[in-house]
Amino acid sequence: MKNFETVKAIQKFITSEKSKGKSIGFVPTMGALHAGHLSLIEQARTKTDVVVCSIFVNPTQFDNQEDLTKYPRTIETDRQLLIDYQTDVLFLPTVQEIYPNGMEPTEEYDFGYLDQPMEGAFRKGHFAGMAQVVKRLLDIVQPDYLFMGQKDYQQQLIVGRLLELTGMDTALVTCPIVREEDGLAMSSRNVRLSAEERKKAATISATLRQAKADRGNYTLAQTQERAIECLNAVDGIRVVYFEIVDAKTLESLDNWEDAEQLIACTAVHLGSVRLIDNLFL
Ligand code: AMP
Repeated sequence: MKNFETVKAIQKFITSEKSKGKSIGFVPTMGALHAGHLSLIEQARTKTDVVVCSIFVNPTQFDNQEDLTKYPRTIETDRQLLIDYQTDVLFLPTVQEIYPNGMEPTEEYDFGYLDQPMEGAFRKGHFAGMAQVVKRLLDIVQPDYLFMGQKDYQQQLIVGRLLELTGMDTALVTCPIVREEDGLAMSSRNVRLSAEERKKAATISATLRQAKADRGNYTLAQTQERAIECLNAVDGIRVVYFEIVDAKTLESLDNWEDAEQLIACTAVHLGSVRLIDNLFL
């Protein structure tokens, strides 16, 4: 596996690979890699010639300083996992390398309603920071395919729009959520849960599955209420939101029939850890 820390070095390599007709697949991450990330690497490997993974904990997408400083960093384990999964390139830039002119965003994107609800409403500036770093990384890596997880459903929808808005020649591939045996969606933040919290965390995905089962038996509003009650009933869990929305537009709905595809998205605090999950209904 090649390791690059500078924009200049990775660009030189990518230009050379592209000149040989090789396709480039890109998996951007913030590290502390788990099976969810590795499923994206595997997807990239089957679809593209050269698999590039970046690890960069992007300060501009954190609205909470504590979350940023406590974000797990396990670079040597990550590096070994990437080698085991036959990743071709690890790009591990510094903040200075990504933001040589400072972290203030230079471009603003109009994502319409997509960045307004849910994560957009509760994490101010999160999506602007996310779009800023994704655009910067795409400009550097120039991938043919970009692999992202459904775990961050709203994020991948916004990135899809970003690709449209900028006219970049990159296709987005969204990969399914990888879960632990008890259903908990894998997340780098899961390691911050205590043993007791970790057990309780299974309620999140169980509640999403219950909401799916509720369809047909309850109204949409009742289903939402039941889900919020069920989560809040667990000592230590505080629901931030639980919303059933149009999977395409993220608009709220009154009735089950109001959209072709519906998705339930939730964010909760479990102790001091914030977790998100979603499920198509
Ligand atoms: P992160 O390191 O959390 O920024 O995530 C990097 C990429 O991995 C994003 O596209 C995430 O959506 C994706 N990802 C994170 N967790 C999972 C998971 N459990 N299953 C599938 N993809 C995931």
